[in-house]
This record gives sequence, structure tokens and C-alpha cells, in this order.
Amino acid sequence: MKLIIILAAALGLVPAPVKHTPEKDGTSFKEAVAQLEPWQQEEAYRITFYEKRIKVEALTPQGRFRAQKTLEQLELLGERPEGTIFDYPRLRHRGLMLDESRSFHGIEFLKKQIDAMALLKLNVLHLHLDDSAGWRLESESYPDLTALTAWRMGYTYHEWEAGRYQFAKADTPGASGGYYTKAQMKELVAYAAGRYITIIPEIEMPGHSMEVGYAYPQVLCELPDGRLHTGAWDLCPGNEATYRLLEAVLKEVMEVFPSPLIHIGGDEATMKTWSQCVNCARRMQEEGYTEVKQLQGYLVRRIERFVAANGRRIIGWDEILETGVPQNAVVQSWRGSSGGVRASAQGHDVIMSPNTHCYFNYYQDLIRKEPKAVGELVSLRFAYGYEPLASGMDANHLLGVQANLWTELIPTSEHAEYMLYPRLLALAETAWTPASAKEYKGFRKRARALVDVLRARGYNTFDMDTESDLARSGLQRFPPEGVPIPIDD
Ligand SMILES: [Zn+2]
Repeated sequence: MKLIIILAAALGLVPAPVKHTPEKDGTSFKEAVAQLEPWQQEEAYRITFYEKRIKVEALTPQGRFRAQKTLEQLELLGERPEGTIFDYPRLRHRGLMLDESRSFHGIEFLKKQIDAMALLKLNVLHLHLDDSAGWRLESESYPDLTALTAWRMGYTYHEWEAGRYQFAKADTPGASGGYYTKAQMKELVAYAAGRYITIIPEIEMPGHSMEVGYAYPQVLCELPDGRLHTGAWDLCPGNEATYRLLEAVLKEVMEVFPSPLIHIGGDEATMKTWSQCVNCARRMQEEGYTEVKQLQGYLVRRIERFVAANGRRIIGWDEILETGVPQNAVVQSWRGSSGGVRASAQGHDVIMSPNTHCYFNYYQDLIRKEPKAVGELVSLRFAYGYEPLASGMDANHLLGVQANLWTELIPTSEHAEYMLYPRLLALAETAWTPASAKEYKGFRKRARALVDVLRARGYNTFDMDTESDLARSGLQRFPPEGVPIPIDD
């Protein structure tokens, strides 16, 4: 039979398969993939539909898996195409970050999201495993991290905040929370690997670390009169105890997570206590620093050396650019896209997750019809319109794109899914499909059909049928009567 290259929109797939110029008859799969980058070759596949059979070609089991997911979508959507699909990803890192510190969702929730990610051909799950609101990963070297901070008084983040940040123990009446054991995480790593998804763990430092100082006060800054700066947001970068803790924990983390990339946070350090601390002052003198912010660079570079000595690479939020970091470090752009542009100009590989488009804890529709959220409007259409290769950016350094779900206002698993779907479908298509092949109308139709599939599988999704005209328009602003918008990420 004659081979026809199927157009993505006609197939109804999310993400849409890459359209490919028809090859001359008889082009072998190996010849077809030869033009691709090696990492693309690993994921590429070709499906040929004959009258009574289907032929799947791939160079690797991973390519075969991506093809299976395309076939699964075709089946779910009742499509039976003719011809050939030749498909491969645009970007190497196609991710989702879940914040398990502010709200702890548990292992079943994570597995369920991994299943959805696999269907969407996403390949990175980034877990934000600690923050001031609680430490969520078992540590044998520093067991009080979980024993003293994995539970708190207040089910939601804001109840905890309103009650002045009271941590609790597992058996404290009224406490809520939890943490992942190493055994659970090893099992999850294997579960994800079986779906060609890598889990990148994040251990946050030096900011967002109130809980670490609560469990181990020796990492706190020290005032000249010998008192410790209890309740501080930042770790003390002047103190050797800080490095002992971070390195021991990271060593354990690297034993659990084989990911070549390890996230070390690095965002939003207030640096408030550093200028009052005797240990910070001594470190500044030894290093010849004139400004306290140079201590952030010291800590990030020192941790980078430790992680690199263990054969891994760090990722940090875009603040790590401001105080000097080796070129090997991957920069994750979150304060808009400018950090990504600057990082790529300095030779860093970049993951784009700007809050403007990729923060799915932001409103997806009108404030009056949605659960309380943060930020500006990131509607499905606006999220879909995102182009990760920002103007001025070196395409060779664009590692990928990622959605982030911060959970201060998202206590339950149902609520988390509501914020993720269908916007995660938009992100998946941006990550997989060339910009030139994206088209919103066709995507919306595919997304609408897949939302029904997700609902049938027990996911709680946003209701696309009641989406407001403003959200449908794709504008990123609220109407004039909108209430003031709280921003806390
Ligand atoms: Zn200090």
C-alpha cells in the first residue's frame, strides 16, 4: 500500500507526533533517524499501519515505549490511521515539578502522576523534597529532619502559617504530614524508570530551610553573644556543620536517586542573618569577600564540587547565576525567561520553567470561579502558547521545559490534579512537538478528548467546558473587577 504521512491534528494525539517530510519509498528507519541528535534517536519511533497489522520500529526499548503510548492514545481516541507516523521529541528534558514539602501527597499520588506523564511522553519528575514547611525524605545520617519536621500543626500550609509554624511529631495529636522512606523512593525510581521517566530530587539550600535549623540548630547563624538565630529562613554558609549536614544528606540522596542531575535549589535566600553572624564574618574574611551575598556563591560552588566529585551535575534556580557558579551547572529559569537567556549566554544548559507560563499553581481561569491560587492567569491557551527558546537564547543550551506545581494552596491530591490537567498536556506538546507544528485549535480538541480519558481513569481535571471567554482568549490578565492577586512564589 501507499504510505501516507499522517498529519498530527488528524490523529488526535497529545503531544502531537512530529510531522516529517515524506521520505522516498523504502527509506529504512535507521536512515530516517540518522539526521537526529543521539538523544532523539533513542526516543524516535516509526509506526506503519497496514490493513491488518501494525509495524513498530525503534532503535531502543525507549523508542518502542513512546510508540506504544502513541498507539494507546490512538486506541483511547478511537483512531485507526493509515500510513506512517515518524516521531521524535523536540526537547530532551520534558518535566514536571511537584512540591511535596508544602503539601505532602504520598506515594500513590506520585505513581498516578507518573502514569499520566508517561502517556504524555514526559520524561522528568522533579520532586521538591524539602522546604521550610517540612522535610520529606528519610535520612539515616540526620534522622531528626523527618522526626521533627515531617509533621506539623495545621493540615494546610496556611493553617500551619497562621499557627506560627508549629512542627510536630508523628504521634502528636492533630499533627499532619508524612515523609517518603528511602525504600519507597527506590521503588518509585524503578516505577518511573520502567516508564522512561527520571526522578530528579531537589534538596533546597541555603534559603527555604527553616525546618533544617529547627531539627539541627548547629546549621544556624550565631550572634556575637553566642545565641543562635533560631527560626532563620537561611542556613549558615559560614558554619562547617552546614556542609557536614548537606553533604551527608546529598550522599544519601545520590544513593537513592540515580539521576545524573541533582537539584540543589538556591533560590530566594534572604541572607538576613548572615551579616550578624560570627561564623559568616569569619568565612567572609578568609575568602576576602566584601558582600554577604558572596557567601551564597561560596555555598553553591562548594556543593557543586561535592556533587561533581560524586559524578553528578547540579541544577539550581536562576539565582545561582548571580554569585558565580561553574559552567557545568544547569540553570532553571523561573523568574520569567531572562535568567535562562543570561545562563545560556554564559554557556550553561538551561531548563525553562518561567512563572509567567509554567507555574500551574497560578490561576487557570477567573478568580471568582476558581479555588484560591496565586499569580497571573495561566490559562490552557496561554500555557500552550509558550515558546521555550526565548529570543537571544542559544538553542544548543536549551535542555528542556518544565511545569512547576508549588503547593502552598494545594493541600489535596484532587486539587493538585485539577491544577495540572489539562495544562500539563499543553506543556507536553510544547516539549515534544516543533513550534512550527503547534496549532491551538487542533490541540484543544485533542486535549478535550484526553481530559475525558483522564477522568475515566480517576483523575480530577479542570472542566474545559465551563472555561470562561477570557481564559479561552489566551490573555494573561484578569478583568478590571478582579480582586488583588496574591503572589508568594
Ligand atoms: Zn552564619
